[in-house]
Amino acid sequence: MKNRTALVTGASRGIGAAIARELSAQGWNLVLNYCHSRQEAEALAASLPNAAAVQADVSQAAEVERLVAEGVRLFGRIDLLVNNAGIAEQKLFTELNEEDWDRMLTVNLKSVFLTCRAVLPEMIRRQEGGIINISSIWGITGASCEVHYSAAKAGMIGLTRALAQEVGPSNIRVNCVAPGVIRTEMCEGLGEETLASLREETPVGRLGTPEDIAYAVAFLASERAGFITGQVLSPNGGLVL
Ligand code: NAP
Repeated sequence: MKNRTALVTGASRGIGAAIARELSAQGWNLVLNYCHSRQEAEALAASLPNAAAVQADVSQAAEVERLVAEGVRLFGRIDLLVNNAGIAEQKLFTELNEEDWDRMLTVNLKSVFLTCRAVLPEMIRRQEGGIINISSIWGITGASCEVHYSAAKAGMIGLTRALAQEVGPSNIRVNCVAPGVIRTEMCEGLGEETLASLREETPVGRLGTPEDIAYAVAFLASERAGFITGQVLSPNGGLVL
């Protein structure tokens, strides 16, 4: 593979860290974004060749601009953007306040607008690039007590499909990966009982691992996926069909 650089948001732990490790194994240089988990991000960067950790809150426009500029300064260009950073929260809809709503939509959806806006002008100029957005099965089906999360994740799917059409003529592919239930810190909040019943409901009889998602991302990033754009690939063990 040519010398290529991927920017992975929220790469300090969980799914983002697994994506970073897998892309690195496939020969990508890596800009590893994190928000709070500095130690984890720096340790991961130190363990991979041609990788650097860059702090930025992806919900803030100025921080995203700085993040992309730093990636370009370090590696010359960004060839692949993986929008993985995200937050989750379980709350009854009637208990959601405006602040909850705005935070969820800003961190999970506006951030994707901001990062895409920051990388696309250069990709369009070069007539080459890729974007992969990490949505969720709940963005496809909706989830009770996660209306704001489901809305943001569904928004990522709409953004993916529309943007894929707009930038396809510039040789830029935009796809979505919508994970099922994956064992990371994020799903700890669901509790063991819920996780056990989700495991039982999953046809393959297990919850997902961060690597299950990383393999899907690495495939969509590869030249073998050159005819795939605007799609939603959902590694979910058959939970959602
Ligand atoms: P996680 O373990 O909670 O990790 C979340 C990551 O996002 C962390 O690296 C965190 O960075 C980063 N992050 C959060 N807010 C950020 C911000 N404002 N700016 C930059 N980075 C930020 O979650 P995960 O399970 O790996 O989830 C990764 C993605 O997969 C999310 O988009 C999530 O919605 C999606 N997903 C997860 C599951 C699941 O079951 N786990 C299922 C479907 C979809 P810091 O720690 O540095 O703050």
